[in-house]
Amino acid sequence: MTRDAARPTRVRLDTPVMYLKGVGPARAEGLKRLGVVTAGDLLYHIPHRYEDASTISQISSLETGMQGTVIGRVVSKGVLPTRKGLRIFQAVLKDDTGMIEVSWPGQPYLDRTIDKGDMLLVSGSVRFFHGRQLQPREYINLGEEDEGTALGRVLSVYPATEGLSFKVIRGIIDAHLDLLLPLVTEYLPREVLRGAAVPSIGDALRMVHRPTSLAEALEGRSRLAFEELLFVQLLQQRAKALARETRRGIQFTNKRELTTRLKEALPFQLTGAQMRVVREIFADMCSERRMQRLLQGDVGSGKTVVALFAAMLAMENGYQAAIMAPTELLAEQHFRSMSAMLKPLDIEPILLTGSIKAKARREIASRLGEATPALVVGTHALVQQATEFSNLGLAVVDEQHRFGVEQRKALGAKGESPDVLLMTATPIPRSLALTLYGDLDLSILDERPPGRQNITTALRPESARARVMEFVNKELDKGRQAYVVYPVIEESEKTDLKAATTEFEILKEGAFKDRRVALLHGRLPNDEKDTIMRSFRDGEVDVLVATTVIEVGIDVANATVMLIEHPERFGLSQLHQLRGRVGRGAEASFCILLGSVSPEVKQRLDVFAGSDDGFDIAREDLRLRGMGDLFGERQSGVPTFRVADPLRDELLNEQARDAADRLLADDPQLDSPKNAPLRQVMGERYARSLELFRVG
Ligand code: ADP
Ligand code: MG
Repeated sequence: MTRDAARPTRVRLDTPVMYLKGVGPARAEGLKRLGVVTAGDLLYHIPHRYEDASTISQISSLETGMQGTVIGRVVSKGVLPTRKGLRIFQAVLKDDTGMIEVSWPGQPYLDRTIDKGDMLLVSGSVRFFHGRQLQPREYINLGEEDEGTALGRVLSVYPATEGLSFKVIRGIIDAHLDLLLPLVTEYLPREVLRGAAVPSIGDALRMVHRPTSLAEALEGRSRLAFEELLFVQLLQQRAKALARETRRGIQFTNKRELTTRLKEALPFQLTGAQMRVVREIFADMCSERRMQRLLQGDVGSGKTVVALFAAMLAMENGYQAAIMAPTELLAEQHFRSMSAMLKPLDIEPILLTGSIKAKARREIASRLGEATPALVVGTHALVQQATEFSNLGLAVVDEQHRFGVEQRKALGAKGESPDVLLMTATPIPRSLALTLYGDLDLSILDERPPGRQNITTALRPESARARVMEFVNKELDKGRQAYVVYPVIEESEKTDLKAATTEFEILKEGAFKDRRVALLHGRLPNDEKDTIMRSFRDGEVDVLVATTVIEVGIDVANATVMLIEHPERFGLSQLHQLRGRVGRGAEASFCILLGSVSPEVKQRLDVFAGSDDGFDIAREDLRLRGMGDLFGERQSGVPTFRVADPLRDELLNEQARDAADRLLADDPQLDSPKNAPLRQVMGERYARSLELFRVG
């Protein structure tokens, strides 16, 4: 089918943006990174800032040290090389009052998009460098627009991404706004709208995208912030209500048979935190209530063995237990370590993944079909239709944030009403977890097993590159292995980011010429990924060049170096997960952040380098970057705010809480027809509402 044939004749809110005029595959890819997939999403991609005449300074008034925004025409431009090899794009802007030089280090490609005669709006700080110079924080190219109209307008500044500028995004939205707005119908109940005194959705969207004044833009924004706060209030209140309802489950008895034998057989003592958490889980499992518990524990805090104790309790009561992991490799790793720990008990776990052959699979199926105690470790193969458990008593989901809501639920649905334990290494502060996961009980492993290697974390500037590579080679000489991580898979014209695929070729011929180097990234097919990870685990590869796909739970004790390029591109929690891949054996380990970064970024990275506590780091991440970044994927099910700021929008938040109270008092499950549009929208936007309200 050609693209034209696939193009729908009439645009709908669910039309993929790719088919919109002026978009196409490349821009659609960029929009996707911003969370914009459909035409409807485009409407909700709202400006994060506005510029209008009241915020614009005259060029002559800019003084060294100040922050400012100016509009001026490009009178000259060019790319300058520097001694360090960095290329700088420079332009001189002129308005009625004067001229100023603007300088973009490391962005020579701007020469292709900014032309002489273009009108630019630039915000930044002014410094002294052979005269006044503006260092842009951001800019908008207004093209040929003349100064008069530019000044009269309120300019919407949109969140942008690599290769997709504000200007392009604004152009796309502007071009489709008139067509899309009439397609939106109100989904908040009328009395709610009236109570909060915010505009209807159609008006609000028009106001935020094409405001006639700043005040109007803010009014539109208040509606969008209000609805976000309302949705989250509804989710939280519903979660709490569900938690209060008693869910009947299996009542296990602590027989102290397998569990005691496991304790005696372990080659180590449980930490105090592990003992506490095992007690919490046992108390839950031995009650009549069905367990729904979230176990949070930093990387390496020893969650696996906790799950194993729970599994033993289920088995000594005659039940089956299943542990599901997000990748084959992780499942295999659990299988190996559990096999070793259970050997003295004469228990052999069962491994069930996609690559288990049909014949072996049939044997497993028949074993699970018998009502005998068993422990199965596997991937999502566990929840596939063909897998039937005769008496599943415990379902454990490891790295639960890596699964979609449906998969998580599917495992719990494989038995009568098995107890459920969700585990995660992406911690969120307790208070936040309690409000967001009000229906789950929470256990926290806040202590690390003793004897763990400290990981030395260092931030090294670009100028130290050669020395860093030398250092890594010294480690490799000792027989150790190393990870080298990049933020992107492929290079792009629009950024100067180093990319895994290109750097892989360079490293192979250069710094790691005599080493076995492999490349791993998210676009490889799953089985290929697993093969590569296996050969790294088995010591057949010395250096693994990768993107963040290696982030999840993998344990290669011989790897002692984690080298991260462009550290500024990662969230602190993500860096912490990456760092957790080393320091797993007896050898001293190192996490090196390589690259020259701005003072603000350095401050952030110093926080990371100075702490090895995932909870502290997550808190810092939340403070600095907000929830969206911490829980990137919609999948994680954690509601995130795009518009609202629960602290700043305190009043709106109170109104939202009142509105949620009233709505739920009237219609606790939101299943009355008049609330159907509301439910529909919540279901689309928050995975969590699928669990709490059974939407759609
Ligand atoms: P995570 O919480 O990241 O899943 P794991 O369960 O994989 O951590 O445990 C990391 C390592 O620590 C494993 O090798 C495990 O055997 C070991 N470990 C777990 N608990 C203890 C303990 N109490 N004392 C010593 N080592 C432990
Ligand atoms: Mg783990």
